[in-house]
Amino acid sequence: MNKGKLIVFSAPSGSGKTTIVRHLLQQEELNLEFSISATSRAPRGEEVDAKDYYFLSAKEFKNKIKSDEFLEWEEVYHDNFYGTLKTEVERIWAQGKHVIFDIDVSGGLRIKRKFPEETIAVFVKPPSIDELKIRLKKRKTESEDKIKMRVAKASAELATAPLFDEIVVNKNLEEALVDAYSLVSNFINK
Ligand code: 5GP
Repeated sequence: MNKGKLIVFSAPSGSGKTTIVRHLLQQEELNLEFSISATSRAPRGEEVDAKDYYFLSAKEFKNKIKSDEFLEWEEVYHDNFYGTLKTEVERIWAQGKHVIFDIDVSGGLRIKRKFPEETIAVFVKPPSIDELKIRLKKRKTESEDKIKMRVAKASAELATAPLFDEIVVNKNLEEALVDAYSLVSNFINK
């Protein structure tokens, strides 16, 4: 199979990586396709199965772990599994496209380790933990407890930023979008 590139965007929840990934997907000349992750968490708001995630039960997810169907997987929050199916990368490479991932820090680094040459791993950094709390609260999709859990995890994740190939600081969104575009464009055209 003709291998494309793997573009990983990882960041603490609420740092704006999803907005950046969506923006890049709209740039047709980059020839990117979103890696749809599998998850055992329930759909949120307007999320659609097989578009935002493949929504699985915890049992289905564990069966796929057993049969070695994941490139990487993680219990991101207690009882909430997330993972990249091997078939996702195959599906996208078969279309002659590059794969873009919106995944957590450990998953992102695992993909980099498995495909060091093909991968650019980008860490999206929120300007501060306080700003992250404000953004998560504004999103109004999670309870206080869940927000606390995400903020605690974010502090640990921030410490891994130096392990990534590149860091984009999302202080000003417009600037972060421009930075992310040029990193990806340079990587796929090199
Ligand atoms: P959310 O519940 O907000 O959609 O995602 C929670 C976290 O799980 C985010 O940091 C998201 O990037 C991460 N995530 C989503 N898909 C995957 C995946 O396939 N693998 C890993 N390791 N993390 C993922």
